[in-house]
Amino acid sequence: MAAILTPEGLGSSEQERRSCAVCGDRATGYNFHALTCEACKGFFRRAVNKSTEPTCPFTGSCEVSRAQRRHCPACRLQKCLDAGMRKDMVLSPEALVLRRAKQAWRRAQHSPMKLRKEQKELVQILLEAHTRYVATMFDQFVQFKTQSFLCGPLCYTVEDIIHAGFQKDFVELILHFHGTLRRLQLQEAEYVLMAAMALFSPDRPGVTQRVEVEQLQEKVALTLDSYIKEQQPRPQKRFLYAKLLGLLAELRSINNEYWYQIQRIQGLPAMIPLLQEICS
Ligand SMILES: [Zn+2]
Ligand SMILES: [Zn+2]
Repeated sequence: MAAILTPEGLGSSEQERRSCAVCGDRATGYNFHALTCEACKGFFRRAVNKSTEPTCPFTGSCEVSRAQRRHCPACRLQKCLDAGMRKDMVLSPEALVLRRAKQAWRRAQHSPMKLRKEQKELVQILLEAHTRYVATMFDQFVQFKTQSFLCGPLCYTVEDIIHAGFQKDFVELILHFHGTLRRLQLQEAEYVLMAAMALFSPDRPGVTQRVEVEQLQEKVALTLDSYIKEQQPRPQKRFLYAKLLGLLAELRSINNEYWYQIQRIQGLPAMIPLLQEICS
């Protein structure tokens, strides 16, 4: 697709037809009913999924060009709508995760009950990486009893987090998620496979090799499903794979909310690209 759309050798009117209807950057295809670039596609999806509408701090006629497109979300969103982008075509993050998970699940129905050699290797690699970089976090997660958060040597209470500017509802959302996850009593391998599934999400902003990331995510999903099937049946693990998929969808919406909260707290537009990369 991208190869067809490179502007080389095209006349200027041709080039115009290949550029994003919102910001003029190189378009990658029709997204939500308008020819746009990847950045505007992602922007539109996130903007539609947000609970609040952006407002323009100026007169509602800000320039939306490739260089300026980050400056005013309100005018950019308006331009998206003027270009014909349709809100009803945007799936919620939860629906998107579920759709992808269902596709993987359908394929997993045909997967064998035993882990294949390369799946065993994948689990091994993830476990090693996990032990090397975040094992202490897993121990803290397992021992997590009080309503406090550990971040390296520092320990924060719920009150600290609210004091930092996060809304109470949001903190409760995280605590609820945490409680549900803990009650599943995951083994470390299940935990790392789930974390890898969350990490390899092709729809994150800035991801360029979407197909590869999607394939990787599917590989991890199939391995997780086979791993769970291979274990001795345990009553608390009934429908575990389906429950984990549900949690991944929940995590996605927490993530969006987190991003919203961070934007509210920071109010530092210059930091937004970096934060976006961290929080997405
Ligand atoms: Zn664009
Ligand atoms: Zn504006």
